[in-house]
Amino acid sequence: GRKFFVGGNWKCNGTTEEVKKIVTTLNEAKVPGEDVVEVVVSPPFVFLPVVKSLLRPDFHVSAQNCWVRKGGAYTGEVSAEMLVNSGIPWVIIGHSERRQLLNESNEFVGDKVAYALQQGLKVIACIGETLEQREAGTRAVVSEQTKAIAAKISNWDNVVLAYEPVWAIGTGKVATPAQAQEVHADLRKWVHDNVSAEVAASVRIIYGGSVNGGNCKELAAQPDVDGFLVGGASLKPEFVDIINAAT
Ligand code: 13P
Repeated sequence: GRKFFVGGNWKCNGTTEEVKKIVTTLNEAKVPGEDVVEVVVSPPFVFLPVVKSLLRPDFHVSAQNCWVRKGGAYTGEVSAEMLVNSGIPWVIIGHSERRQLLNESNEFVGDKVAYALQQGLKVIACIGETLEQREAGTRAVVSEQTKAIAAKISNWDNVVLAYEPVWAIGTGKVATPAQAQEVHADLRKWVHDNVSAEVAASVRIIYGGSVNGGNCKELAAQPDVDGFLVGGASLKPEFVDIINAAT
């Protein structure tokens, strides 16, 4: 079986005081345990050390981005090697906000995923269509995005695929369980046909976009929804309900 995965993407939010408060809430939460649900929180770079030092040992931390290649003269960037050296096990790559606001292309995202994996990081690789693209056909968009990643990697053991429809992010317009299931099943079939049956069976495909404490259970019950990547609600105590969604 695929272990349920719940990621909290804090995006560009928080102060030191606020992140400490979130960590306290998480540390006191009653959750199923690491063998049942994998929990990863992703604070902004500057808060990674404090969160890592205070967070309970059964939860893990993730960066929200890293540089595409080895570090060097790239002002403002943080390299995959630096994350590894700092004991940060995970990184989110290809979030739609970076694709849209910072023009990250499918190819650039594929290169980043490959480089981060080579350095030993685990990767939450994000894909998803805009509303405009949904009208033209979600399948073509998300399979192109997945293909650009698949072209650059051979081992999927350390990859979680996050399907985040852009029209559902931060809008309160969550995909229905049926909509999410349909795309996740399509993606799994794409992986089956283009990577391997083994990877299709084992890769976690998680959903993101307006997930909250109220809608998480129904989404989690879908056979191809293996967890969540949560934005806004990951900053609130209801994140604990989302961690518990599958149990
Ligand atoms: P919201 O949960 O705020 O819609 O954000 C989802 C997201 O982008 C997680 O990466």
